[in-house]
Amino acid sequence: MSHPPIHLYLDGAFVEGRSTARVQVRNPADGSLLTEYAGASPADLQDALAATERGFATWSRVLALERFRIITRATALIRERAAAIARVLTLEQGKPLAESLREVQLAADIIDFLAEEGKRLAARGVPPRSPGVASQTVMRVPVGPVAAFTPWNFPSNLPARKLGGALAAGCSIIIKPDEQVAATCLEMARAFHDAGLPKGVLGVVMGNPAEISSTLIASPVIAKVSFTGSVPVGKQLGELAARHMKRYTAELGGHAPVIVCADADIAAAVKLCVQAKFRNAGQVCASPVRFLVHRSRLDEFRAAFVAGARALVLGNGMDEGTQVGPLIHERRLAQMQVLVDDALERGARLLCGGKRLDRPGWFYPPTILEGAPEDAQLQQVEPFGPIGLLDGFDTLDEALARANALPYGLAAYGFTRDLATAHRLAQDLQAGMVGINHFGVSQPETPFGGIKDSGYGHESGLEGLLGCTEVKLVSVAVA
Ligand code: NAD
Repeated sequence: MSHPPIHLYLDGAFVEGRSTARVQVRNPADGSLLTEYAGASPADLQDALAATERGFATWSRVLALERFRIITRATALIRERAAAIARVLTLEQGKPLAESLREVQLAADIIDFLAEEGKRLAARGVPPRSPGVASQTVMRVPVGPVAAFTPWNFPSNLPARKLGGALAAGCSIIIKPDEQVAATCLEMARAFHDAGLPKGVLGVVMGNPAEISSTLIASPVIAKVSFTGSVPVGKQLGELAARHMKRYTAELGGHAPVIVCADADIAAAVKLCVQAKFRNAGQVCASPVRFLVHRSRLDEFRAAFVAGARALVLGNGMDEGTQVGPLIHERRLAQMQVLVDDALERGARLLCGGKRLDRPGWFYPPTILEGAPEDAQLQQVEPFGPIGLLDGFDTLDEALARANALPYGLAAYGFTRDLATAHRLAQDLQAGMVGINHFGVSQPETPFGGIKDSGYGHESGLEGLLGCTEVKLVSVAVA
């Protein structure tokens, strides 16, 4: 199947990028060249900025109800076209087609929820303390044009969170999807275009990430920056945003612990752990990484976990029956090997996987290591791939201390059937999102975000909308 041609989306038109540098997109399932395109030139970025400024002037004045109508017309189109968009997504990203389809449908749900909330942005009246003041109103107004940067692991959901929040709040937005998965984002932009979104309200640019982010963030047109990706890049963009006094939301990496207590339903826990660990080949920021299991249940957990991982079917995401697709880039394969070899050299035990598959494409098998010492890189660095670390623990205090020891704080999970233990885990796990007895912490209706090095601010849920607004006080005295 051919890949759609990739253009920039500037001022309501799909146009060729004017950079002389070209971006190549390869199919991660076999390494073949899917397409090649020209990225954004400096002039394209200036055009995008001018357009978003005009787009904001238009869109921020459109009635919330009308914004809702246009946005939901676009999501209806996304749903109508979901099967075709999902094929594009799988071709460029590699995940199984059924997962791509769910992701695209969920992207429409994410945007719909934000659009709904956009109709309900309520102002608050505060009783005046001076006799001459008639009213004090605390309003939520759109923050202004947003510059957003999304990675490659969820090519429709991550743009959906950013553009859903911005558009529902009345902001314009320029989005830079990851260069490898831009076609999916452009299909979403096409749905907004076809739904009648005014020119300039949404822009899509790709090319040289550092050049694009430094240009957009430094521009006085941009009011807010939103980034999803790795901690180092998130910190770099945060510094840039701070220098220019821009609002900033950062959704960065994680290294999620899972504490499996002695009283847990092990069979149910393992089933969910296998799904959550290897979904999207582990390329999920909230993916569980460190599995800490009470020593009395460790043998039982290990046997079922390894059997579950070994039974997963790896393959081309386009093939029916595939459960785990390839990694996104060849360099990610090399990174997996470096991390695994380092852990093995330091004394970890390999329970399954551990070596790239001998076939075309970037396939790394589900891999489980036990007893990786604290100084192994894998204990500190987010693998962002199909690698799980297994370890036993004796007391809950010890498990919590280990779970909280890293600078990450995105998601954390616990399995227990004891109410008091569930409360203890919920209270003491240091993370923006805690899942007890399941992994479903990322929903359209709930805020997604981390603490510590995992970032700040939220997307999705009401908080995702509020993050695209500014508080404005209007105080009226009788003249
Ligand atoms: P990377 O840090 O090079 O890139 C991640 C994303 O950031 C890419 O989309 C890239 O285009 C973008 N990016 C990089 N430099 C940028 C810049 N200066 N300005 C704007 N955007 C920039 O990492 P990678 O090798 O592609 O992916 C591996 C790492 O990325 C993983 O270790 C993981 O931590 C992280 N990651 C995190 C998430 C997440 O959801 N939190 C998603 C994808 C990747």
